[in-house]
Amino acid sequence: MAGEKHWKEGMKTHENIIFSCYGGMSNTGITSALACLEAVKELGLEKVAIGCMGALPLGVKPVIGKTKAAKKVITVDGCPFECARKTVEQSGFRPTKSIVLTRDIGMKKKALHEDIGQDIKGVMEYISDDEVKRGKELIVKTILEK
Ligand code: SF4
Repeated sequence: MAGEKHWKEGMKTHENIIFSCYGGMSNTGITSALACLEAVKELGLEKVAIGCMGALPLGVKPVIGKTKAAKKVITVDGCPFECARKTVEQSGFRPTKSIVLTRDIGMKKKALHEDIGQDIKGVMEYISDDEVKRGKELIVKTILEK
């Protein structure tokens, strides 16, 4: 696009990248997204950013380049379908570490469609602050460990 400056190899970039599954149809996917965002808020954008996951299989060059330049590429999935890890791997990257919230912090998945027509609640009522915090702490530890 005219005038737009894309990232190129050798330019400054985030030290690490997290790819979150961000499935908005379950508590696990939403918790994954929120935990990733909390980790970025805690560590700062120089240390880590959330990668544009949809851009990877599309071959969007700046996103591919920044992912190649990252010291760590961490995938964070809500549930055993592991959409983030599989997308990252199918795009040619090997994650430094895969986090799965059902496996690693013992979350129980709740598919939100189950309550439609019965007692569907506001979205944040399905989210536990404690699970977001534990997910965030695991992500931060994974980024900081040698
Ligand atoms: S890993 Fe699970 S929670 Fe995340 S997007 Fe895939 S199906 Fe949804």
